[in-house]
Amino acid sequence: MTTTDPVANLAALIRCPSVTPAEGGALSLLDTLLSPLGFAVEKMVASEAGTPDVENLYARLGTEGPHLMFAGHTDVVPVGDEAAWSHPPFAAEIAGGEMFGRGAVDMKGGIACFVAAIARHIEKHGKPEGSVSFLITGDEEGPSINGTSKLLEWAAAKGEQWDACVVGEPTNPDQLGDMIKIGRRGSLSGRITVHGVQGHAAYPHLADNPIRGLLQLTHALMHPPFDRGTDDFQPSNLEVTTVDTGNAATNVIPARATAAFNIRFNDSWTVESLRAEIIRRLDAAAAEGELRPDRAPVKYDIVWADRPAHVFLTRNNA
Ligand SMILES: [Zn+2]
Repeated sequence: MTTTDPVANLAALIRCPSVTPAEGGALSLLDTLLSPLGFAVEKMVASEAGTPDVENLYARLGTEGPHLMFAGHTDVVPVGDEAAWSHPPFAAEIAGGEMFGRGAVDMKGGIACFVAAIARHIEKHGKPEGSVSFLITGDEEGPSINGTSKLLEWAAAKGEQWDACVVGEPTNPDQLGDMIKIGRRGSLSGRITVHGVQGHAAYPHLADNPIRGLLQLTHALMHPPFDRGTDDFQPSNLEVTTVDTGNAATNVIPARATAAFNIRFNDSWTVESLRAEIIRRLDAAAAEGELRPDRAPVKYDIVWADRPAHVFLTRNNA
């Protein structure tokens, strides 16, 4: 194969129907591209109860440092209604100077360019000093349990160490490579349930409408702002993403009401400090009486979503 051509690499990758968690031939193809360049290629299958087994790939060229790693994923999201595609999702058709296919942007395009870049370097200058590796998962678009984190642990347990890493996710506004990001905001989600007392809307004194309490709590989450932003990030932002009672009647006060939220936060917070701040706001709002005069504090509970994303910022300018 002409590995130095990113277009050919991308077309070959797109033709692998690697809808998560299926390998779809994509990792085998990478093996085929990287082995002839001198990479030592290893596959690693990760398992966990309740999730599908997922194949991952680690390939390294060189044994010395410094060690640069390219990280990415070959799995893609499902195609949805295939008939609605202007070009088939796995055909890699080119029209108007653009290639069409599932994963062209996120992120087979990035991997195709990684491979072409290292192949061109080898063609021109020979093997690089130090080492270059590919850490590629097949579990980014799915549960993301048997993917990058397990592959990192597996490689680190074998003694692998890296000095720098480039992730080929599509963050470029206009064309590939026009922006490099050095960090990412954290993400934390939760669901609040307010417990009230069901009753008839005509006799509210016999009931306790949980929506009143939920409005107080959600208001406290949305105002005031969590911070004003930092040198590297925009202000942290919380969005209430759903408010539910499941109540089909207009004249019944429901027994409980729930709301879910997601906050994208900057490096003035950690997951732990942010959880504490959210609880502080909720407890303060629960004791307020604006919407619930002469009532006991709002009874609520909160369930945090699993696996929050920690804020990340690299300060290593090298
Ligand atoms: Zn991606």
